[in-house]
Amino acid sequence: MKLRPVLIAAVITLAQSATAEDKILNLYSARHYQTDEALYANFTQQTGIRINRIEGKEDELLERIRNEGLNSPADVFLTVDAARLAKAHELGLFAPLASKLLETRIPAHLRTEDWFSFSTRARVIVYNKASVKPEDVQNYADLANPKLKGKLCSRSGSHPYNLSLMASIIAHQGESKAEELARGMVANFARAPKGGDTDQIKSVAVGECGVTISNTYYVARLLRSTKPEEIKLMEKVGVIWPDQSGNGAHINVSGGGMLRTAPHKEAAVKFLEYLASDQAQRYFADGNNEWPAVDSVKVANPALESLGKFKADKLPVKNLAMYQSKAQIIFDRVGFK
Ligand code: FE
Repeated sequence: MKLRPVLIAAVITLAQSATAEDKILNLYSARHYQTDEALYANFTQQTGIRINRIEGKEDELLERIRNEGLNSPADVFLTVDAARLAKAHELGLFAPLASKLLETRIPAHLRTEDWFSFSTRARVIVYNKASVKPEDVQNYADLANPKLKGKLCSRSGSHPYNLSLMASIIAHQGESKAEELARGMVANFARAPKGGDTDQIKSVAVGECGVTISNTYYVARLLRSTKPEEIKLMEKVGVIWPDQSGNGAHINVSGGGMLRTAPHKEAAVKFLEYLASDQAQRYFADGNNEWPAVDSVKVANPALESLGKFKADKLPVKNLAMYQSKAQIIFDRVGFK
């Protein structure tokens, strides 16, 4: 009983410090682009809320939030790929967030009840103009065509980008079609999967392979390169928007949500809503050569524009998440390492 006054005092101190800290946002971000400086500075200028940034690799940050548990200082977690965002959701890390503003600004297929996409990227086919005909690689399904035997290069099948692509194929065409594609791709490999998307593009350019798949921002980054050797490499390759007479090119996202344990929930909501503003959308998307999630916001990105207009798959990001484990099982079964 004697402890009671102490407890009350402790509660008061906590309440006071919470108010004092209201002007702070702890942001765990797997993004690290130059334009992000301006993105965060503008938020602080508009709201007076200071951002403490913890940057790290996608999976490390997720682990860190998990390990910190109830004591995590993280308010908002930003990362790339629907699979990773879905994982954070499955672990119960995100807090449900009903925001009229986010519901109005972010298209329904790009949001869930607790995480939101703020930019999109497409997964495209890149081919060597000298060794592959563009008409042979118009669709993802073409990558399984025996015509391309020994010509396909890929990054690992367990990478989230390939898992999300496979998940979209399962969602649209079912498991057996998806497995058929994965098996055919493995049969067409020029070499065992290794490296990232940029490595695949370069391998195609130098003729080690004839065709690959890549996220658009890697293509755009190389197209915007001022290094003479990279400019030369990009002259050798062509880019195809896949499945244009079908479901459209597979779209993945970067995004984030407020954490269930966020100490500064009000600031977290303000920040997420800010990310959907016109100005923030431009910084967010352009920092990594992506497209804004908010339809009405346009960015002028010459490299992306040079690829032309395309039809994007409108599959809800939730469905991508739903089929992740099935995608991994299929890749394992066909030996897509
Ligand atoms: Fe990437």
